Amino acid sequence: DSVRDDAAPSAARRSDRKHVLHSWSAHGTFEPIVIAGSEGAYFWDEDGRRWLDFSSQLVNVNVGHQHPKLIAAIRLQAEKLCTVAPYHANEATSEAARLIAELAPGDLNRVFFTNGGAEAVENAIRMARLHTGRHKVLTAYRSYHGATAGALAASGDPRRWPSEPGAPGIARFWGPYPYRSAFHADSAQEECERALAHLADTVMAEGAHAIAAVLLETVVGGNGILVPPDGYLQGVRALCDAHGILMIADEVMTGFGRCGEWFAVDRWNVVPDLITFAKGVNSGYVPLGGVIVSDAVAASFATRAYPGGLTYSGHPLACAAAVACIGIYKEENLIVRARRLGEEVIAPALRAMQARHPSIGDVRGLGAFWAIELVRDRATREPLVPFNASGPADAPMAEFAAACKQRGLWPFVVSNRLHIVPPLIIDEQALRDGLSIVDEALQVADRHCAG
Ligand code: PLP
Repeated sequence: DSVRDDAAPSAARRSDRKHVLHSWSAHGTFEPIVIAGSEGAYFWDEDGRRWLDFSSQLVNVNVGHQHPKLIAAIRLQAEKLCTVAPYHANEATSEAARLIAELAPGDLNRVFFTNGGAEAVENAIRMARLHTGRHKVLTAYRSYHGATAGALAASGDPRRWPSEPGAPGIARFWGPYPYRSAFHADSAQEECERALAHLADTVMAEGAHAIAAVLLETVVGGNGILVPPDGYLQGVRALCDAHGILMIADEVMTGFGRCGEWFAVDRWNVVPDLITFAKGVNSGYVPLGGVIVSDAVAASFATRAYPGGLTYSGHPLACAAAVACIGIYKEENLIVRARRLGEEVIAPALRAMQARHPSIGDVRGLGAFWAIELVRDRATREPLVPFNASGPADAPMAEFAAACKQRGLWPFVVSNRLHIVPPLIIDEQALRDGLSIVDEALQVADRHCAG
């Protein structure tokens, strides 16, 4: 997705080319756009090209770009108290923790703050191990938990491959994915039953006595917006309870409204032992993440010190941003709005597109969290590009993404999928216009289809 403009590169571009090593990129070939500004659901580059943001950047800018109330809260906090060591209490951190605990389900009443999602996962795993005295953690294939050593080792995402061998004590299982079932199931219910039986088998084979936690994304995000069939998460909860295993719900991407609930587990009334969060907690205005801890797990660290910490844990600026962001979700009713936009606008538009475009194999999602999976052939479900494709093999998806960008839409494309994950504040007409752009751009994908 690079746009190389060599005419008169700006200072920002020159320094970027020379000095910045970007995430997941080869600096010799990657040429990012230089963002000059943003507002609401839009951002633009230094050449004045403007895009409707269907990505929310990395699915985190839930309240949209440059929200005035969020900026004001950060500014006010900066003037009051910018930074303190995490062993001091302060108003912003206390209030953020209180609000998060209030929103979290069940007895998850205590928050350990981090700077982002990966660190949240690292600490959730550590807490689970210390609380249970067991060492193994079961995680799903097709999952992403972050890019630090432990979180990447826990991920079942192909991005972990270069870092292998990962950490000891991680065992993987297959989660439900009705469109490409690992269990050859024919219905969502069958998928649910077989996925649960498989998880129970995995627990048995790994030894329940050795398993500290099952770590899973409530709705798998980066690996495909895989919504679990009804009953699956309840089944995981029951299995964990039966064996004294902790359930860690990774809600880094799904929490704070993305799925039309405060936390996606709320949709199924499941109460995990630990919830990891980041992204939407303050819409990414200042780095923040954390673990929400149940009373029982927190009790483990009542008299014995929790052995973990970060210089910036509970950073006042980040926490003030969280307090303001949660206030915005409430005032603007964004949680319900996400659900409504999904049900009334996104889902019907995508299903209508599926009827017109042979390249759409599957449509799935909830809230403002949707994906279309593109195929060459609907009958065989052969993906439009091979799993984890790069270079020429990825050309059809790259062309499709370019067609969206040319029309003023910034898409979130992963593998053979388009994820539709706009800010929750997106204007309804802008959302419809963006979906029309997707509709047009799909003609590019259709050309690669069989028949
Ligand atoms: N967990 C999930 C489910 C995620 O989607 C991500 C990032 O996309 C992470 C963890 C890692 O978060 P971060 O990039 O803030 O470390």
